[in-house]
Amino acid sequence: MTRTTERIDLLGLVPDDARAALEGHFAGRGVASYRARQTLERLYAGLAASFEEMTELPVAEREALTVAFDLKTPGVARVQVSADGTTKHLWRMEDGELVESVLIPSGDRLTLCISSQAGCAMACVFCATGWSGYRRNLTAGEIVAQYRGARQWAGENGRGAITNIVYMGMGEPLMNRGPVMDSLTILNRAYRVGARRITVSTVGIVPGIRELAAREEQFRLAVSLHAPNHELRRKIVPVEKKYPLPELVESLRAFDAAGGRRITFEYVMIDGINDAPELADQLAEIAREFRAHVNLIPFNPVPGTGWEPSSPRALRLFAGRLDAAGVNATVREPRGQDIAAACGQLAAEHEMTPPRPFIELTAGR
Ligand code: SF4
Repeated sequence: MTRTTERIDLLGLVPDDARAALEGHFAGRGVASYRARQTLERLYAGLAASFEEMTELPVAEREALTVAFDLKTPGVARVQVSADGTTKHLWRMEDGELVESVLIPSGDRLTLCISSQAGCAMACVFCATGWSGYRRNLTAGEIVAQYRGARQWAGENGRGAITNIVYMGMGEPLMNRGPVMDSLTILNRAYRVGARRITVSTVGIVPGIRELAAREEQFRLAVSLHAPNHELRRKIVPVEKKYPLPELVESLRAFDAAGGRRITFEYVMIDGINDAPELADQLAEIAREFRAHVNLIPFNPVPGTGWEPSSPRALRLFAGRLDAAGVNATVREPRGQDIAAACGQLAAEHEMTPPRPFIELTAGR
């Protein structure tokens, strides 16, 4: 019987491990170790998608690398470019799973929003990704591959360099901690994206926030708050039942105490649900402690919700109230709405079923 061994995906190894694996491979073949460095340079700076492209290596070495290692590069199932320049990639993973990433140009910045899971188990009631359910975690290689693919596309289409990365696509990054933590290391050390230019967005997974706080790199944290008190939050963000606000705030204190890191709060503004001015005062109290910026995101209608975004007047009042309480707030412009690329709209065309809390909440309005 022939035994097939799974080839290691080099894209998913942190740089030290990738170097060690390659050095071991070349040493075993009696080849000089500088070939390992050469291979990694082509992989990281050159974005090589296959070993065949590494023409500086002898043919026999390229073939040997192909036998020993894999470079799992997802296929592009679709690219959609919005009228505002926002670009959504639909990636097809090796097992056929579909995930999305979004490139968002803004002034001299080009931000890439990447996915960490296929689907999401968190079931936030305003979010299409949550409705599509959880399918699986992405590997570190699959997370990094979205960056590599988007960077390649941006280069070929005159969009310039990706300046920022946000883990705000499909999935809850801190529910897929091992691969997400490795992907942070890889993006930072191998692809040279500064830690302060990478933001991990979480709905409030306390152990994950503590793990990020313990890291030496100053990655940024965005917390999807969406409600400033336990009673309302548990209806919009079900994870509030597992990690209630006081516990979440405690973990943010640990993150803040680690120093030099910025926290932002994300707050989706839904008409008549969480946009009352007095809620702005409660939100300000939390944000002030962390000198946190608040992003107010007008709810992006998802078909079938029946919910509406807050009115421009309600948004102004809410932002004004935060401002009066000494908190900086920005009303986010919806981006890429015409291609369903805005926050909470990524679903990769999976079937969506509104979760139960949504029905309870609307019935009580
Ligand atoms: S908002 Fe984020 S955490 Fe909540 S369901 Fe959507 S993808 Fe998951």
